[in-house]
Amino acid sequence: MRTRISFRKSGSIITAAVFLVGGVLWIAIRHAKVEPPGISKTGTPATVREPAGLDAPGEMEEGRRPAGAESGTAVTSVHTESYKVACVHNLRMIGIASQLYLNDYGTFPLASDKTDQATNESSRPAHSGFDHLQVIFDARFLNKSDVVICPGSEDRPATRNTNGTFTLTSDSCSYLWTRKLLSNASPATAPLAACKKDCHPEGRNLLFASGEVKWVTEEEFEKSFRKHFTAD
Ligand SMILES: [Zn+2]
Repeated sequence: MRTRISFRKSGSIITAAVFLVGGVLWIAIRHAKVEPPGISKTGTPATVREPAGLDAPGEMEEGRRPAGAESGTAVTSVHTESYKVACVHNLRMIGIASQLYLNDYGTFPLASDKTDQATNESSRPAHSGFDHLQVIFDARFLNKSDVVICPGSEDRPATRNTNGTFTLTSDSCSYLWTRKLLSNASPATAPLAACKKDCHPEGRNLLFASGEVKWVTEEEFEKSFRKHFTAD
């Protein structure tokens, strides 16, 4: 009897154990099936890991568009800046050449003066910077025609004549020149040269008698410096 009870008891225990294990397994399987694929075993949302791979193209796509737009802007802005810097370099060279001219001739270059001396006629108004800058070339203080080309312009350097000189035109000179005859007695703040209009967006580089080159906005140019220059 005891044995039977004990047998029945142990039978019940085994049955209970089977049910228990089965139940646990069932719950485990069910849980595994129900478990959202996005949740990893550690509970970390899989979106962080797996979709990272999936998101990557999206993210790149996302990034690519603005990056493309930005890099376009960045490239433009890099060009704009490099043109301004190269232009400053040109104007400094022109400033040095003008100073050398001043040392030799007592005034800064001015086409009307040269015309005066050459023709012995009354001063004529020079129409653009190229007439005046031609004076520096003729005096051989400049010997490279690309020095008077602002890289932001559409101008092209004058080709060398057979005798080694250059003949500047409005298309081979990007700079305006002061209409005033300046000398050592002139204020150092007197402007000498400036970029033609539209070489750069919204402003121009300006060369002063001191040799300094400064960026001024178009508005500032029109307001304070326009009167010094011959027409664009
Ligand atoms: Zn310029």
